[in-house]
Amino acid sequence: MIRAYKYKMKPTSNQEAYFAKCFGCTRFVYNYALSEKIKAYTNEKKTLSFFDLCALVRASRKDNEHKWLNEVPALSLNYSLLNLNNAYNHFFRTKSGYPKYKSKKDRHDSVKFEPNSTRYDFKNYKVRIPKLGWVRLCMGRTFDVSAVKINSTTVSRDACGTYWCTVTIDDGNTVPPKVKVERGASIGIDVGISDFAVLSDGTRLPNMQFSERSQKQFARAQRCMARKQRDAKGTPASRRYERYRIKLARLHRAVENRRTDYLQKTSTMLVRQYDTICIEDLNVKGMMHNHNLAGSIASVSWSSFVRILEYKSEWYGVNLLKAGRFDPTSQTCSVCGYRNNGTKDLSVREWTCPECGTRHDRDINAAINIVNTAIERHFNKQSPAVTGITDADGADSESKTGTSSRICDYASDETSMQNVLK
Ligand SMILES: [Zn+2]
Repeated sequence: MIRAYKYKMKPTSNQEAYFAKCFGCTRFVYNYALSEKIKAYTNEKKTLSFFDLCALVRASRKDNEHKWLNEVPALSLNYSLLNLNNAYNHFFRTKSGYPKYKSKKDRHDSVKFEPNSTRYDFKNYKVRIPKLGWVRLCMGRTFDVSAVKINSTTVSRDACGTYWCTVTIDDGNTVPPKVKVERGASIGIDVGISDFAVLSDGTRLPNMQFSERSQKQFARAQRCMARKQRDAKGTPASRRYERYRIKLARLHRAVENRRTDYLQKTSTMLVRQYDTICIEDLNVKGMMHNHNLAGSIASVSWSSFVRILEYKSEWYGVNLLKAGRFDPTSQTCSVCGYRNNGTKDLSVREWTCPECGTRHDRDINAAINIVNTAIERHFNKQSPAVTGITDADGADSESKTGTSSRICDYASDETSMQNVLK
């Protein structure tokens, strides 16, 4: 199984300078390759492949003007080209999000290092970075270095100026087989805004409103920052501006950490407790078009929750089933199947079925319907109409154009990158 570990780093100022160089070079290579690709296409209607771009960068490393590119590992530059390649593939696949130039002002930088040139020493909590040497790490959960295969190491710097080392490993374990789907050990989850999730057994998981609870602090920090001298053309930002910028970034990070913690703990609780988890196939991007709800929807982060559930259910051998996007789960009576159109109105929290007379709580009824529909679909071997959390347009265009491999004739994975380096 592929797993990722993330450590906070403690680089010295010299080491920070080296990483700054790496970030700068990978950003330069990315932007240079993007502009060359655009130029080649507009002038000659020619598509530069990943291999063409690697050759271009290799050539520019040799000329005098770009000598400084040699100060960082060649493979890290190729990883940057691979990122561009992936960005193009994503664009062709979803027909949205044309690759953009990377800006120095983005405040999030990263550089990837080749696995064979990095080494980990967890006795002393150190990582060896190519062309630099050993860098100290903060303590964290470790893995057995001798037993696993390291896939990659990425060093990143966030908006607060903290350095992180992310390592992905293959621990050699195989994914556990999925248990048989049974109604008894299944749970349905109806996500919402007033409650983060309502389970079909009646449990309510509260919406913790992490962003909303910090609104005042955000506003104060932003107000302070707005009064300081920010960077204009030629003049750098004042030191006070920087101080408040970091303060605000830390606030955002703290909220993010709280939210991630909650999502991780909730999802672990669910995959440990149940054999089959049924969720709704949500169109989150579509819902975000509603400006009144967009903030609250972003704050509860359903997409992240589903993404976490997807990989965790693989780890634990749990079935994750989806009810269709257009299944009327909140309108149907879970007892007799009567369809009540009156519950389309979101303010109706409780209703009584005119057919069988059952009193329903809107969310619990929906959660029960989600289990029923998802399991029924599973046994009929019907996957939901649209799978995954994508916006409807993107998913449609993918199915219409058919294959992504037809459009993208160039490398899309890391093995092809290994080939080009040989
Ligand atoms: Zn009924």
